[in-house]
Amino acid sequence: MKIEIDPGAGPCFGVERAIEKAETILKEKSVLYTVGDLIHNEAEVERLEKIGMKTIAMDQAISGEYPNVLFRAHGEPPSSYQNTKDARVEVEDATCPIVINLQKKIAKTYSTIKNDKGQIILFGKKNHPEVISLLGHCENTAMVIEKLEDLNSIDFSIPIYLYSQTTKYRSEYFLIKKEVEHRISELNIKDSSHFNFHDSSCKIVARRDEQLQDFVEGKDLILFVSGTKSSNGKQLFQICKNTGVESYFISRIEELKKEWFLSKDNIGISGATSTPKWLLEQMSSRVKELVEAL
Ligand code: SF4
Repeated sequence: MKIEIDPGAGPCFGVERAIEKAETILKEKSVLYTVGDLIHNEAEVERLEKIGMKTIAMDQAISGEYPNVLFRAHGEPPSSYQNTKDARVEVEDATCPIVINLQKKIAKTYSTIKNDKGQIILFGKKNHPEVISLLGHCENTAMVIEKLEDLNSIDFSIPIYLYSQTTKYRSEYFLIKKEVEHRISELNIKDSSHFNFHDSSCKIVARRDEQLQDFVEGKDLILFVSGTKSSNGKQLFQICKNTGVESYFISRIEELKKEWFLSKDNIGISGATSTPKWLLEQMSSRVKELVEAL
């Protein structure tokens, strides 16, 4: 039996950077307070908590009780920076540079349309930390859409600036773009500046979609390892399921069931952009043990 770890799996650059930052601070200070889950992977959060990381909420962060805090890769709205500054809390910032870039673009668009006609439409998951951070950069004026049907509540006669949360499905985003173009054309609006499309989905995530499809091909079974809160994990798992290959979403080693591996020759292990490599390796070792015991 062949057991293979997806070579394209493992933390993306933004997540890796946030983890490295947390580890560096923990080496210096032995305690670290992060505002919200540092990353959407419970196993990695637990590992960091064992060496001193503590997860707190924003209202705790500005209570004056904690001298310094770390902002996670998803980013924060401007109010978080202002509130921590007012509370004299030192901030270490692990916001992914790609997210910072998107925040700046949205802020710039907002300043352009503030005194003019226009609306920002954001394709993303409502209440996702990144979306909350992006909304903060346009004074919460953007309309968040989660699916194609949500376009029904948009007034297409008003100029549109379309953005996507970095981790949303690129293919779905482009379907939304096409539908926006169609609805505008139905209004017979010819002005090309009426629709401003921003290709803001993260290219690292987009590449993972394609890599994962290639990896799944020819496998008898896929173990997809991800934190339960990871929206990227849920999307990538859906790719595995869509291929028709028997696929399981797991977060912890204890969830493995040996009966899954009966009559299987080629097992693939993959994960989300927040799944640590050490967890994939642990899964692989445990699968080997279970298979040997069959
Ligand atoms: S998915 Fe892309 S944007 Fe999000 S943290 Fe990773 S590298 Fe940054």
